[in-house]
Formats: sequence, C-alpha cells, structure tokens
Amino acid sequence: MTDETYDTIIVGTGCAGLTAAIYAARGNLKPLVLEGHEPGGQLSITTLVENFPGWPDGIQGPQLIENMRVQASRFGTDFRLGHLTSVDLSKRPFALHVGKEVLHSRTLIIASGASARWLGLPSEQALIGYGVSSCATCDGFFFAGKEIAVIGGGDSAMEEALFLTRFASKVTLIHRREHFRASKIMLDRVIAHEKIKLLTNTTVEDVLGVEQKDVTGLKLRDQATQETYVLPVSAMFLGIGHEPNAKMFSGQIDLDNDGYILTHDNVFTRVPGVFACGDVQDRRYRQAITAAGSGCMAAMEVEKFLEEHGR
Ligand code: NAP
Repeated sequence: MTDETYDTIIVGTGCAGLTAAIYAARGNLKPLVLEGHEPGGQLSITTLVENFPGWPDGIQGPQLIENMRVQASRFGTDFRLGHLTSVDLSKRPFALHVGKEVLHSRTLIIASGASARWLGLPSEQALIGYGVSSCATCDGFFFAGKEIAVIGGGDSAMEEALFLTRFASKVTLIHRREHFRASKIMLDRVIAHEKIKLLTNTTVEDVLGVEQKDVTGLKLRDQATQETYVLPVSAMFLGIGHEPNAKMFSGQIDLDNDGYILTHDNVFTRVPGVFACGDVQDRRYRQAITAAGSGCMAAMEVEKFLEEHGR
C-alpha cells in the first residue's frame, strides 16, 4: 500500500488513455498511467493508419502510439506496468488493486480498451502462438511463402488479409455469412487482390495440428451444403472483433449486456469522479480519432471534477 493519493489514475495506454494523459499532465495533474498486458492497445498491433488527421501519407499505428507516449511523458506522466485486478469505487479516494499493491486516486479514467475475440475452439486455444494468432502485424512475418487463413467479415479481417498478402503465397478469407460488415472500400480491395480467395457461408470446426504443435489445416463446414472438408493452411489469423476489458469494474459501475461500460454525456459513468473513454465504452465508432477525442473529454472532466471537489 502506498501513501500517495493521485489526482488521477488512467487505466490503459491506447489512444484514449494516452490522450487523457497528455491533457491531464498538461493540466499539472501528474497522472499515473497503468499499463496492462496489451501496451499501446489496438493501434500497436495495426499497420498503416490512413485516417488519423494530420498525417496526409498515413502513419504506422505503433509509431502513432509511441509519439503519444512521448508527448504524455514530456508533460510529467508516470507509467507503471501492472495488472489491475479489482477496484473499490464506493468511496473517494478510490482504491485500485494492482498485484499486491493498493493505489489511491481522487479520480479515475478508464481507458482499458477491448481485446481480440477468439472462436473458442480447444484446438484454436492450444495452437495460439503455433500458427494461430490475432495479430497479423505481429506474426505475419513468420509465414512467408505459406498459405494462410483469415477469419471474419469486418474491416479487421479485411485489413489482416490484405496485410498478410505481403508474406503469404495465398490468403483464404473465411466468413460465416454471405454478407460482409466490412466497409465497401476495404472489401473491394480484398476482392480485387489476386492472392486472396473468399470463402463465405463457411465456419471453422477445428484447427488441425495440435499434436505437432503446428497448424497444418482447418476443418471447415460449408453452411449451405453442410459438407465438411479440410483446407490445408500453415496459419489462422482471427479478425472477428473484440471484447471490452471491463470485467474488473463489474458491480462498481454499469456495464451493458456485452460488457461495455455504460456512459452518459460522452464519458461520465454512474460514479462521480470515474470517467470512461475509448473502446471500452464505445461500440459504435471505435476509431483511433474518436478514442483520442473521448480521452481528451475524460481528462477535461477530471480537471473540472477536481476543481469542484478539491484536490
Ligand atoms: P466487426 O465489425 O464487429 O466484425 C467482426 C466480424 O467477425 C463480423 O463479420 C462477424 O461476423 C465475425 N465474427 C464475430 N464472431 C465470430 C465468430 N465467433 N465466428 C466467426 N465469425 C465471427 O469487428 P472489426 O472488424 O474488428 O471492426 C470493428 C470496428 O473497427 C468497425 O467499426 C470497423 O470499421 C473498425 N475498423 C476499421 C479499420 C480501418 O478502417 N482500417 C480496421 C479495423 C477495424 P458477422 O458479420 O456474421 O457478425
């Protein structure tokens, strides 16, 4: 247990958390930022970001995050690695349990983001790191010249499939339905790519290669005919969306049915002094720029809250 009570603790080091840190640090609040097991959030595992204003030629996601981190540090942000296990938001200062330590803070900014979703097959789980991955940017390199499958029908799956064509000899994009959620521009790029083959109405029943500890293929089911068959591939990349990282706040603030934090007026939770921003509370926009925008709002509300309630 430390004696220090922080003005604000920010949970998360993605776009939302780092923007909140820049604003809070410039407001002289000396924020503490807690960095969990996915530092940098989703931008750190993406490639070229073409739609963040101010970068006419685009910027690599990890570089954008690094820039924000440097900017936050420059104004006096403290970073600490630690897994937040539980919180007590019933009284102020709030108590945050990080490992064996208890940290106290007058306000809290939750920017813990969302994590990649998995299919949930035992064989998939057994082969994570052995050909099963949710991060094309991290692991695509290992499959140069190989055939790869990508699962999903949204923009993430399109982005992964396109990125993986740099390495793979062939990419098969497998989607469980006929229609895609992906934006037209991304889907058009995928359809036009000579290395990508689309399989719709197809589900993954099993990932093969558990005994060898190396993906050798996928057992697929054609939902139209109900036939099953094996597609030989060396890797399976998941691009099927994300789960909000908010379980540790359950019971203390309101979550919706899918576990996203419920906010009103952009960043307010039902607990005064606790604000949420970025993907952990946004199931609609989920963009780097909207996450950054809401991080700014959360930090500004923290400043107002501390002015009204004292530091
Ligand atoms: P998403 O839009 O929710 O798409 C998830 C996809 O995975 C859907 O096609 C869904 O199928 C499929 N899926 C979910 N669970 C599945 C399961 N258990 N088995 C098989 N398939 C499953 O998620 P996202 O692609 O991560 O995109 C999230 C947001 O970020 C979107 O707003 C997107 O536009 C944005 N984004 C933008 C970019 C970019 O602009 N460069 C890149 C990435 C993401 P159904 O369609 O059948 O539900």
